[in-house]
Amino acid sequence: MSVRIPLIAANWKLHKTLAEAHDFLDKFRENLKLQDVDVVIAPSFLGLHSMAIALKGSPIHLAAQNVYFEEKGAFTGEVSPGMLHDVGCHYAIVGHSERRAIFGEDDTMINQKVRAVFKNSLIPILCIGESLEQRENGETEAVLERQLRTNLEGVVPNQAAKLVVAYEPIWAIGTGKTASSEDAQAGCKFARNVVDEMFNSDVSQSLRVQYGGSVKPDNARELLSQPDIDGALVGGASLDPIDFEAIVRGALG
Ligand code: PEP
Repeated sequence: MSVRIPLIAANWKLHKTLAEAHDFLDKFRENLKLQDVDVVIAPSFLGLHSMAIALKGSPIHLAAQNVYFEEKGAFTGEVSPGMLHDVGCHYAIVGHSERRAIFGEDDTMINQKVRAVFKNSLIPILCIGESLEQRENGETEAVLERQLRTNLEGVVPNQAAKLVVAYEPIWAIGTGKTASSEDAQAGCKFARNVVDEMFNSDVSQSLRVQYGGSVKPDNARELLSQPDIDGALVGGASLDPIDFEAIVRGALG
């Protein structure tokens, strides 16, 4: 069985000026020695270039919060995976529930994005998760399976092995309502099982499955100690360098 290094990712959403982003980095990096944990920060597109320069030689990697699937052309306002790679990004968040709900991204578009991201040597952090209504109707597993099967269509096993899946129940995002560690573990394990059926056990044992949804310093350790939770995608609590550092430490056991 492969040993999966936990991956803690900060999704800053629509927050932080350049000065605030660099101030965060200075404070966050002050004490932290990163070993046995991967840390990823997703600033706005505008922060990527200067943060990549500031992080040169550091084990902290950058993610884009979004990406388009075309390489170039008449797509006003969009950013391509090749551009993200060029600027020093390693990851791209794809299919965040805010992109799905507010910007109307459907599973087909998310699949196009996942494939374009892999094609450009980036790693997708693919977000999946059920709404409260779907959970209450007992549809959680069907929703997760449908998202994984459509979002990963055309992906080949050696790509899938590098994938990061973020299981983010929509009702837990930004609400302060964290899933119980049992529910978070069950969602992450289910996602891994679907990947196992779609590909093979080498892939399902290599890919990392994060939990996301109101992860905070005081619940991180318990969530991250679950056997199928290989990290966290953190929104609100990632804006504060002290809170984010505490969450990263939670992954160290
Ligand atoms: C997110 O946006 O992916 C997220 C999990 O946000 P929060 O941590 O604020 O719930």
